[in-house]
Amino acid sequence: MQQLIGVARRLGQRSAGAWSWARGGVTVTGGNRGIACLAALSETHQILQKTCRDFANAELAPRARHHDREELYPAEQVRRLGELGLLSVAVKEEYGGSGLDYQAYAIGMEEVARGDAAVSIVMGVNNLFLGAVQQHGTEKQKQDFLVPYTQGEHIAFYALSEPGNGSDAGAASTTAKQEGDGYLLNGTKAWISNSKEASGGLVFATVDKALKHKGITAFLTPKDVEGLSIAKKESKMGMRASSTCQVVLEDVQVPSSRVLGAPGDGFKIAMQSLDCGRIGIAAQATGIAQAALELAVDYSQKRIAFGKQLSRMQLIQQKLAEMATRVETSRLLTWRAAWLKDNGMPITKEAAMAKLHASEAATYCAHQCIQVLGGMGYTTDLPAELYYRNARVTEIYEGTSEIQRIVIANAVLREFGRE
Ligand SMILES: Cc1cc2nc3c(=O)[nH]c(=O)nc-3n(C[C@H](O)[C@H](O)[C@H](O)COP(=O)(O)OP(=O)(O)OC[C@H]3O[C@@H](n4cnc5c(N)ncnc54)[C@H](O)[C@@H]3O)c2cc1C
Repeated sequence: MQQLIGVARRLGQRSAGAWSWARGGVTVTGGNRGIACLAALSETHQILQKTCRDFANAELAPRARHHDREELYPAEQVRRLGELGLLSVAVKEEYGGSGLDYQAYAIGMEEVARGDAAVSIVMGVNNLFLGAVQQHGTEKQKQDFLVPYTQGEHIAFYALSEPGNGSDAGAASTTAKQEGDGYLLNGTKAWISNSKEASGGLVFATVDKALKHKGITAFLTPKDVEGLSIAKKESKMGMRASSTCQVVLEDVQVPSSRVLGAPGDGFKIAMQSLDCGRIGIAAQATGIAQAALELAVDYSQKRIAFGKQLSRMQLIQQKLAEMATRVETSRLLTWRAAWLKDNGMPITKEAAMAKLHASEAATYCAHQCIQVLGGMGYTTDLPAELYYRNARVTEIYEGTSEIQRIVIANAVLREFGRE
């Protein structure tokens, strides 16, 4: 936390950089505007928000296009995330984390995603992994798999999905066969973010497929172990600076001491950590939506058509009003889920609502942003199309929108006693 406050003060002494673009008589700039809902935040959260916003303006947004085009891992930006304490926001200080809460995590994620959503994936997955280790790890596991992953020196992956099952996570076919004082892992995990650059991570495998989700077990493993290899890197529509690869496991030996929780606890661990992860994805989506809104407002005020600014036309204002409302509702739902988590209350339904609403708002806002920009929205000169491509996946990973609706409906039906 001291790190963040120190950086906030230093950044406050100089104005943050901003990107700008000019064509056809319109100059569009990205900068410091509209830090929303400030009054509702504690001083710590306000400092964090400003620090992250300045960092995103100065160091993320200007390089987002280049990293996307070249499919380049943003190594320098990830190192800076580590320095700022953003890779381990809610990890206790005694383990090297920032010692903040989930509200802080949501604020940081939103601001980072507003600058470059692909960078925020690295942050999100690392925090997801660390959250699981902090909650379920033994002291030795925390020393081996928490401490080294807090500052950006090492990055983690989280391997739940497989080629044959994503939404149906309980149907894992990667096997963990007990052998001596450990397990032999065999199978393929799919869509694993960070896996190319990671030093280690969490692998979910079944100790007995007949037990279905009750057989799923979580294993902590370094990446450089015999039998573990990184296979196909996916070529994606968006989030192209973040690597997404298959992780292949061929007779990978994992000692029993690296089982996170108990054998058979894996599904529960996955569902609990994904509840928290969904706060992160909701915040990420809110950041993309906010960026799209800012660009649409800025352009509409500068572009002249029919002798007046676009922003004076009521059909354009209708779009801006709808976008702004969806951004605010996304943020409020996200902060509510974070607040509940920070106060020890159940969050399954609320995190699913936040993720569902914010991810669909991000796609909507990016879509409308392109529309407000007209032809310029369809070019790569401006980031509207990048926001659109990046937004789309927030409706898919860490549980699709359909799965969020199922989670919410189940919770609502339980609340009404009509399961
Ligand atoms: C860029 C990217 C990064 C990712 N990173 C990771 C990662 O780091 N770690 C990881 O473990 N996974 C990761 N994933 C995987 C992601 O979580 C899955 O893609 C997601 O859970 C959906 O699973 P699936 O692709 O197998 O789709 P499916 O499960 O095959 O679903 C296909 C469609 O059917 C719908 N559907 C499925 N079941 C139902 C149902 N019961 N009722 C109604 N509709 C249903 C889905 O909503 C979806 O629309 C990543 C994916 C992407 C694209």
